[in-house]
Amino acid sequence: MKFFFDYEKTELASIFDPPFRATQIYKGVYQRSFDDFELMTDLPKPSRASFSEEWNIKLPSVHRRFDSIDETRRYLVRLEDGELAETVYIPEENRDTICISSQIGCALACTFCLTGQLGLTRNLTPGEIVTQALIAQRENTSSRGFNIVLMGMGEPLHNYDNVMKAIRILHDEDGLNMSMSRITLSTAGLLPAIKRLAGEPMIPNLAISLTGATNEKRNELMPINRRYPIEQLLDAIRRFPLKHRQRVTFEYVLLRGITDAPEDALHLVKLVKGIRAKVNLIPFNEAEELNYRRPPDAVVERFQQILIHHNISAFVRKNRGNDISAACGQLKKKWADEPQNVSFSH
Ligand code: SAH
Repeated sequence: MKFFFDYEKTELASIFDPPFRATQIYKGVYQRSFDDFELMTDLPKPSRASFSEEWNIKLPSVHRRFDSIDETRRYLVRLEDGELAETVYIPEENRDTICISSQIGCALACTFCLTGQLGLTRNLTPGEIVTQALIAQRENTSSRGFNIVLMGMGEPLHNYDNVMKAIRILHDEDGLNMSMSRITLSTAGLLPAIKRLAGEPMIPNLAISLTGATNEKRNELMPINRRYPIEQLLDAIRRFPLKHRQRVTFEYVLLRGITDAPEDALHLVKLVKGIRAKVNLIPFNEAEELNYRRPPDAVVERFQQILIHHNISAFVRKNRGNDISAACGQLKKKWADEPQNVSFSH
């Protein structure tokens, strides 16, 4: 069986005869949520039967769902080989956010990230990435609309081809029809892949995880920096094509006593100056396995004020879904020690 969600419409058009079946089925699956060809009454009856034998159009099942008191939801999506992909749904005032994973585990080993402690198990396929968004969207029908962020497990640019294909599928006008401005790809800074991304016809919003503001600090926290040092990374960002009013996002994790000093803020100002950017400050989400602490609120605020004082837009990211291990950097594959005071379904 072929997994329908792994395929772009153009690929399907070269497989199906007549080619417009690709559009019909795309609309049926993505827009009308059909999971059975028999429901697609605009297809000839004999084709429905033969498509059913060849194509899987069912969404993967939800192995477990965790509901936070702040209404954030974390999903463990069961994949064909039994691996679990993590997806987080975050309702917000104006627009919801769906945070999806691009890999099982991660190879980058950032010292402050739980996923980084796992190592890499495997890349997700385009369909495994796309269906996470579909599951979260369909389980949470709200009229607000949603953004998709590739900030779950994994380094999206380490799985470049599958991630870009998934983005094109999500963008297809006969599919979910997601605008590129509603999709954000977050990377730890894989320089060659950022350069490649800059040449794509379709480019999502770009978020760069900085955290260390000097090579010395960043080398410690994010080993990828030893390969692609900060000046080279920032140089590529300066050349990155941006649309009218578009900005690059820098994510900066505040680790108590390590990245939260006024001096660090001033280093960050120097790096970011002159780039059309905003900075998202993420107070460290604590976990037993990680030897870091979150700074007190006053320190977070002081850090933010220094950036603002230097005319840099800086926002503090609210900590969501902490009680269900759904917060940034908490996604991990150990379920045995899940917190007990949460409600699950499925
Ligand atoms: N590999 C990609 C995307 C996944 S990480 C990247 O590095 O951008 C998504 C974000 O979570 C990154 O900005 C990362 O710095 C942040 N993060 C990781 N662990 C964290 C933690 N324990 N507390 C707060 N943020 C964390």
